[in-house]
Amino acid sequence: MKQIELLTSSEAETKQFGRKLAKNLPNGSVIALVGDLGAGKTTLVRGVAEALNIKEVVQSPTFNIMKIYLKGDKPLIHIDAYRLADIDTDIGLDEYIGYETGLTMIEWPMYIERLIPKDAIYVEIKHSGGDNRLITVNCNNEKILEALE
Ligand code: ADP
Ligand code: MG
Repeated sequence: MKQIELLTSSEAETKQFGRKLAKNLPNGSVIALVGDLGAGKTTLVRGVAEALNIKEVVQSPTFNIMKIYLKGDKPLIHIDAYRLADIDTDIGLDEYIGYETGLTMIEWPMYIERLIPKDAIYVEIKHSGGDNRLITVNCNNEKILEALE
């Protein structure tokens, strides 16, 4: 599988990559965001929201599990599965994941692995010293990867 890598050295640069994602991903895309606490997953979602002209402040949905932003150019579904770690209950998230007219971004996707579609775009963010972050994008659609290069 092909992958792309990029380095960001500030919150602003990570947001900028989020804007690029928003502009290049087809509707219905599912973006799985992998990375430690403080890596920049929510920051990346903020960049996407900005590009979609969503004016609301995107907060970490850790305490709500899911938040849907409907007032932008297209719907943005933001899921944080952290609190679902040891829960085996179906709470109906599958109805929203891959919502066809919008973008779905999922923090801690490994906790709801069975709900992540095979064609999801995996974005891993790793601390790389100070404010540096190494971002790796994996997906099985090469056209999408090329658009993000
Ligand atoms: P996560 O959702 O992965 O837990 P957040 O996006 O909430 O992470 O927080 C990332 C934190 O790291 C923010 O405080 C942000 O200001 C800081 N930060 C520093 N450098 C970067 C960078 N290059 N990219 C993203 N965030 C950064
Ligand atoms: Mg977060």
